[in-house]
Amino acid sequence: MSYQSILDQIHEEIAPTLPQGRIADYIPQLACVDERKFGMAICDVDGGYASVGDADERFSIQSISKVFTLTQAMRTADAQLWRRVGREPSGTAFNSLVQLEFENGIPRNPFINAGALVVTDIVLSHLGDAKAALREFARRLSGASDIDYDLRVADSEARLGYRNAALAYFLKSFGNLENHPDQVLDAYFHHCALSMSCAELARSFMYLARHGINSDGAVISSSQAKAINSLMLTSGTYDAVGAFAYSVGLPAKSGVGGGIVAVMPGQFSLCVWSPGLDGRGNSMAGSLALERFAALSGQSIF
Ligand code: GLU
Repeated sequence: MSYQSILDQIHEEIAPTLPQGRIADYIPQLACVDERKFGMAICDVDGGYASVGDADERFSIQSISKVFTLTQAMRTADAQLWRRVGREPSGTAFNSLVQLEFENGIPRNPFINAGALVVTDIVLSHLGDAKAALREFARRLSGASDIDYDLRVADSEARLGYRNAALAYFLKSFGNLENHPDQVLDAYFHHCALSMSCAELARSFMYLARHGINSDGAVISSSQAKAINSLMLTSGTYDAVGAFAYSVGLPAKSGVGGGIVAVMPGQFSLCVWSPGLDGRGNSMAGSLALERFAALSGQSIF
């Protein structure tokens, strides 16, 4: 079966069941999206591409941006990074505060919010303008020079981002932020508010399918690409990583905008988007679509 016919079949199965789940409304601007949206796109290492539904419509990538900022931090400060952030699944919600106190301000992994704030701090210290740096990086990886932040989303999150502010100030109290918490939060909120489509995300994540290399050369080393894929498998889909590995079997990173990107090292990068979330923050129709993709294609790292 070709990737296009697999995506067509998944779309046909899922379209009548939409909308599924609940749109994230704790960031009010995210709730303005049509909950019936559904798109998928896949790029493979031989240059193949297939897509379906709303694959070209941009959405708020939210926590998917954490893979890009982690990549940037690993490019510039790999050793320092792992003294300040762990590599274990958290077993708690992505925005939890309790664990951080017990573990002396060292976040469990770079994909929970506390970990991403430390990663953002590292990017700020090493690259200066972290907002411009991430936008430029996403443009380069995707080949789309007009990718940008949705400032309404960034502003909406900043106005109500009390919990993230609490995490940032708490991290600072443990000495695990170098920059002022407000500066880190501003960059973090913008990073989450980057708007990209499934097609652009699938293209951008190809360096993780190609052992660190994209079409214009090395983004990171092959061992760093392996490390990021491992972290996505163990920490990329919130508190549902176990179920996700069980049912999909691919490294993946989700965001509360309803996007999920999955990677099969050596083979492909795949993105799905549908805004309704399950209770753990993963796109409900998106998770189902990936499960169906794994079943129909027989592709999994296991
Ligand atoms: N900007 C969101 C937050 O910090 C990101 C959450 C997510 O996608 O996991 O709450």
